[in-house]
Amino acid sequence: MNWRDHGACRFEDPELFFPLGENGLSLRQIDRARAVCHRCPVLRECRAWALRNSEYDGVWGGMTAGERRAVARRRAADR
Ligand code: SF4
Repeated sequence: MNWRDHGACRFEDPELFFPLGENGLSLRQIDRARAVCHRCPVLRECRAWALRNSEYDGVWGGMTAGERRAVARRRAADR
């Protein structure tokens, strides 16, 4: 996971990437976390890692846990 050494989030408060939910007041926090991800040079690697490892919490690669679960469900349905 040496791509992590290049993540834009290494300069941010880690709590930003772990909102309490995915609605209401958490949406603002998610938007802020996503903004960091979208300027991150390793977004693709991070997202792929989180999807591959079924990371169940937090914003990784600009995606919430719920979004990653939706991708996993679509992939499973396509098999
Ligand atoms: S994509 Fe987001 S969570 Fe992943 S390393 Fe980059 S800033 Fe961090």
